[in-house]
Amino acid sequence: APVELPIHEAVLGPAASYGDRPALIDGLDGTILSYARLDHATRRLAAALAAAGVRKGEVLALHSPNSLVYPVVFYAASRCGAAVTTVHPLATEAEFGKQLADSGARWIVTVSALLDTARAAARQTGRITEIFVCDRAEGHRSVQDLLAGTAPEPAVTLDAATDLAALPYSSGTTGTPKGVMLTHRSIATNLAQLDSLITSGPGDRVLAVLPFFHMYGLTALMNAPLRNGCTVVVLPRFDLERFLAAIAEHRITAAYVAPPIVLALAKHPLVAEYDLSSLRYLVSAAAPLDAELAAACSRRLGLPPVMQAYGMTELSPATHVVPLGAQNPPPGAVGKLLPGTEMRIVPVAEGDGGGGTGPRADLGVGETGEILIRGPQVMKGYLGRPAETDAMLDTDGWLHTGDVGRVDGDGWLYVVDRVKELIKYKGYQVAPADLEALLLAHDDIADAAVIGVPDGDGNEIPKAFVVRRPGSALSGEEVIAYVAGQVAPYKKVRRVEFLDSVPRATTGKILRRELRTREGSSTAR
Ligand code: ATP
Ligand code: MG
Repeated sequence: APVELPIHEAVLGPAASYGDRPALIDGLDGTILSYARLDHATRRLAAALAAAGVRKGEVLALHSPNSLVYPVVFYAASRCGAAVTTVHPLATEAEFGKQLADSGARWIVTVSALLDTARAAARQTGRITEIFVCDRAEGHRSVQDLLAGTAPEPAVTLDAATDLAALPYSSGTTGTPKGVMLTHRSIATNLAQLDSLITSGPGDRVLAVLPFFHMYGLTALMNAPLRNGCTVVVLPRFDLERFLAAIAEHRITAAYVAPPIVLALAKHPLVAEYDLSSLRYLVSAAAPLDAELAAACSRRLGLPPVMQAYGMTELSPATHVVPLGAQNPPPGAVGKLLPGTEMRIVPVAEGDGGGGTGPRADLGVGETGEILIRGPQVMKGYLGRPAETDAMLDTDGWLHTGDVGRVDGDGWLYVVDRVKELIKYKGYQVAPADLEALLLAHDDIADAAVIGVPDGDGNEIPKAFVVRRPGSALSGEEVIAYVAGQVAPYKKVRRVEFLDSVPRATTGKILRRELRTREGSSTAR
């Protein structure tokens, strides 16, 4: 059944019983915030924000790397009835300005180090009432200042089913980032659905190394562990050494990561220098994970198989996880459907690039097609984009994910790739993710990305961008021959370019648009 609670109650309601236990620990300086103080701080901050004018139905932009203050601001805004639009800390002025204008935000909470960007973005929209800072900065009220206030807590009544808790932006991997309207109900219900398959508890310590601003980090590293009384050790950004040191120092029990971190854990020499024996399991989501790589990682760390999860911002965000303790989940599976969620797999409509919402018959077990999802975690829609919403969400409530996958007889889902990324070669469809997995399995290849490029005859051909392992003299011909030896002829990589690094988002998503731009400018030359 859907959970009809505001998000601050869904998460902090149980906090009272956790009292003096550490809710959050700063992974850099060791500062501890207990559950009792977290709860108290969100109430005090909500009171001060309400006194400053923050009202129900408004939007507050939270622009900060991970910190102990981040959840305090998030739940305080929720107590005021304001929806939080989370902003990438590395967003440019223009990107931030666009998000402010698009979301209609009237308030910004930022940090001193990012203040110049925030100010410039605010000037662009001319609609920001006040900019607060999490730490300290001349001329701005800080969260500390606000916490010292004595205003009464706001008396706000929320309708969990319709009021927005968050307005995150999709990652912009395939186009313009879109503001995703998520209600309190959709987020709170998704947390309850996740609890049923992957419960953590007061003994668990998780490491918040993925960013809170993205729905994966917000859910797996902030909302879910705090709701369950875990301790969250917070790092502001990913750095392999610091990540490993924090696991050893804080005896981290569960790590939620993205594929590039799995890659590092499987292959990087530094890993052997740290005591990671406290880890009980590893979860990877947000981008395709190669099964071989996952296996190599869990073998090296002596862990059970890496557990994948699948979701998207539009789904609050999860629909599939590998249940905790599942015996021998099949390699490559992203998980099983969460309770209270329905899924269909339908043929990929000709030329619709994903998201065509016309009627299509269901495919059977083992057949590959577009993944459709219906459930309480489906977004209300994209803010101010009715056409894009209609292209994604049909009138029967099915969300057309734009992802391609298949389900086996036991209900395990395998995600192949995005509809939009499939390379069309002479009437065949080639999934870049398959070729990338193959390339990554090569000893001399440190990283790889594949896109379709025009071959001049109206075809698209797979082109690989390859990062060689230091010292390797691997040639383009060798890469082509290696792949050709393992795939059907139509899937062959036909062009290779060597790079120093593959452009990726913090969540591990390959920024294929950057590769395409690079390709476009090099072929035009
Ligand atoms: P945009 O929608 O703006 O183009 P995006 O789709 O990357 O960006 P997110 O909502 O952050 O934005 O990412 C969701 C997508 O991530 C999914 O649609 C899917 O393609 C991919 N994804 C998530 N989990 C997995 C997984 N376990 N395996 C493969 N792909 C995954
Ligand atoms: Mg998307």
